[in-house]
Amino acid sequence: MLTVEGLRSAYGPIEVLHGVDLEVRSGEIVTVVGANGAGKTTLLHCLSGTQPISAGRIQFRGDELTTVPAYRRLRRGLAQSPEGRQIFTNLSVEENLRLGAFLYTDERVERDMQDAFAMFPILREKRNLVAGGLSGGQQQMLAIARALMGRPHCLLLDEPSMGLAPLIVAQIFEVVESLRARDVTILLVEQNAYGALKIADRGYVMETGRISMTGPAAELIADPRIREAYLGI
Ligand code: ATP
Repeated sequence: MLTVEGLRSAYGPIEVLHGVDLEVRSGEIVTVVGANGAGKTTLLHCLSGTQPISAGRIQFRGDELTTVPAYRRLRRGLAQSPEGRQIFTNLSVEENLRLGAFLYTDERVERDMQDAFAMFPILREKRNLVAGGLSGGQQQMLAIARALMGRPHCLLLDEPSMGLAPLIVAQIFEVVESLRARDVTILLVEQNAYGALKIADRGYVMETGRISMTGPAAELIADPRIREAYLGI
């Protein structure tokens, strides 16, 4: 579904991605784990087209994506749920969801919204309330639901567990895992390596702008280097 080859990206003169190779196959949950500042968010911005790349290639569903502008990538089926959620706090829950469906005017939008409410019943309950009044976990659910309203084939999820209490984190990971049944392929970047690897098929470890390890998620969880460096075990 998504293939990244030799991706490099810089902020001004400082390169932060030094040639990243990565693949996400259709139907997979793939996670990129790594410490704060490793370059995970930058990678997702490169994929969604909001951060320029200086070298490398991105292919998506058999087509070249490298030079496709950000505003066309959602139409191609690639959506991002950004770090820090970035919901519209002054708009209602429903308005946030409708913004996620800005590409569409057909009657499927209503059905998609009902699907979102079925998936996150709390959002139905609060559909007319301003999104800024939701708890952190509920805002994260809204961010995911809003991205799904764009009908993506592949969802880029940036740190959905950030700043949430452990119980809520578990709930969020459960929701992400349930997206498998909805035919959404997922690239998840997380500092919470254990939670992310637990629900993933495969994982990549990113260290200072490079992929240092990759493999089936279960193998990475069992690897003593990962256990020591990322799982605190
Ligand atoms: P985090 O989990 O904290 O978001 P990350 O792995 O996602 O970490 P990035 O946010 O991609 O890492 O940051 C990678 C590197 O790029 C870091 O050294 C960071 O300081 C730097 N960086 C990120 N954004 C900018 C920016 N807008 N301008 C300059 N440097 C930046």
